[in-house]
Amino acid sequence: MTGTAGRPEQLAASLAGVRERIARACASAGRPAEDVTLVAVTKTYPASDVVLLAGLGVTDVGENRDQEAAAKAAEARAAGAKLRWHFIGQLQRNKAKSVAGYADVVESVDSLRLVAALERACADRAEPLEALVQVSIDGDPSRGGAAGDDLWRISDAVAASPALRLGGLMAVAPLGWPPDRAFEQLAALHERLVAAHPAATAISAGMSADLEAAVRHGATHVRIGSSLLGMRNPLR
Ligand SMILES: *Cc1c(COP(=O)(O)O)cnc(C)c1O
Repeated sequence: MTGTAGRPEQLAASLAGVRERIARACASAGRPAEDVTLVAVTKTYPASDVVLLAGLGVTDVGENRDQEAAAKAAEARAAGAKLRWHFIGQLQRNKAKSVAGYADVVESVDSLRLVAALERACADRAEPLEALVQVSIDGDPSRGGAAGDDLWRISDAVAASPALRLGGLMAVAPLGWPPDRAFEQLAALHERLVAAHPAATAISAGMSADLEAAVRHGATHVRIGSSLLGMRNPLR
């Protein structure tokens, strides 16, 4: 970020730019702009930014590390920000209880063991936790996500759990893949999912670099970090 504007002005300007990109992508796909929810990925940025974004009309935020997210969610809540918190990172089972304490959506469900841990962690919640099953589009599990028959087993387990609600699918385009190819495959998997689970309408796909391709292939949620908040350490 450059210039002399303060943080509120910077965030207002970058948010307007991202909203414009989403609106254009929706228009060229013949979809209404309300079809796509912006999830502001605030990892590495302070709770003060989350509060500013909430004041600018952002409704959904995404975080990928439990410790950081728990503290930030508490701080933002104390400051009066009303937000839906999406957990989007690889989740260890021993963190399920903590995440269930503040998250509205866990987008990175990719194993039956994690489903069981989340189910236990959510047993006494008032509302079921929304869970998206993370897809590994290239079948390489090192970056998280399920592939093949695991995807359907995990989806069925989420759908069968009273503590969880199957929201849909999430994916990150594999490194080196054209995003259109990745998101086209995701859309085909999602079509199969909704045939079995009609309420699982969400497709969380698209980040700062590839949101247009994701919207073209039906994304209902885009997860935008750097275009909104600025560049991070490249490993996060
Ligand atoms: C960090 C992250 C994003 C946001 O990425 P940007 O390129 O900064 O927009 C989206 N999804 C996941 C899973 C992430 O970890």
